[in-house]
Amino acid sequence: MNQKETFIAGVVPPQEHLEAALWFAFHDSKLLVYSNASSVTVPCLPDLKQLSLEIKAQHYLGQLGARPCYAVELDEDTLPPPGMAFLGLRRLYGQIGENLFQIAGRAVQIVEWDRANRFCSRCGNPMHLRSTERAKECDHCGLLNFPRLSPAIIVLVERGSELLLARAHHFPPGLYSVIAGFVEPGETLETAVAREVQEEVGLSIGKIRYFGSQPWPFPDSLMIGFTATYQGGQITLDDGEIEDAGWFSADNLPTIPSNISISRRLIDWFVEKQKHYSGDEVK
Ligand SMILES: [Zn+2]
Repeated sequence: MNQKETFIAGVVPPQEHLEAALWFAFHDSKLLVYSNASSVTVPCLPDLKQLSLEIKAQHYLGQLGARPCYAVELDEDTLPPPGMAFLGLRRLYGQIGENLFQIAGRAVQIVEWDRANRFCSRCGNPMHLRSTERAKECDHCGLLNFPRLSPAIIVLVERGSELLLARAHHFPPGLYSVIAGFVEPGETLETAVAREVQEEVGLSIGKIRYFGSQPWPFPDSLMIGFTATYQGGQITLDDGEIEDAGWFSADNLPTIPSNISISRRLIDWFVEKQKHYSGDEVK
C-alpha cells in the first residue's frame, strides 16, 4: 500500500462510497484480517456485510486517501470467514503497514469505548452516539462521554555515556526498558517524569526534554516520551514494581523492546548519539 497516503479523521460517514472502504472489525479486541502464510491484509470492500458477519456497531473513522475507514464491533459469537483470522494488534505490527496499524489502534479504542459506555455512569440510562462528534450522550441526564485516553510518560535517563534501564516484574524474561508510568491527576508531564524515576529507582533527574509521543492502544494510553539527565542518588529499587535496574552503555545493552514501541525509539536515539560521539560513524 502507499505509505504516503494521509489519514484524515472524521465522524460523519460519506453519503455514498465511490471507493471500497477499509474495515477494521474487532472481536474481543482482535482484528479481522485476511491471513495466509505470506501476507496479512485488512478487508477492503464496499460493504463488510458482504462477508455475512453479524455487526453490532459501526463507527466511521475518516478517510485514508480516497478510502473511507470504519471501525466495527462484531458479535461475540463471530467466527472468522474462510481465509480470515482474528489477530491481536501487537502481532499485526510490521505486517499491515504503519498507516493501517495506526488506524487499527484508533479503531480498537473507539470500539472498546463504545462497548464500555452503553449506559450512563451517572444515572444508568442508555447512552447514544452523537452523530456529529465522537461522543456519547445520556438520553436521560445529558451526561456527555468522550473517548478516554490515559496519558503515560516514558523517559530515557542518561548519565554520560550510559543510560538507565530497568526490569519490571511483569516483563518477559531478560527484557529491560526505560522508565514509564501513568500521569496522576493534578500532575504536569514533567512532574510525572521526575516522580516515576524517583519512585521506581530512587534517582533525581534534570533537563527533562520532550522527545515524541505514540498512541498506545493497550488499552487506551498515549505514551509521551522524554529524555532526562541523571542528577543524583543511588539506584534503589521499588520492590513492588522493579526487579532490577542499572546503567548500560550503548555497546553492552541487554534485551530491549521491539521496534513497535517509543521505548525502542528512545534507546535507538541514544545508541545513535553514542556512535556519533565515539566517531564510529565518522567517515
Ligand atoms: Zn445519565
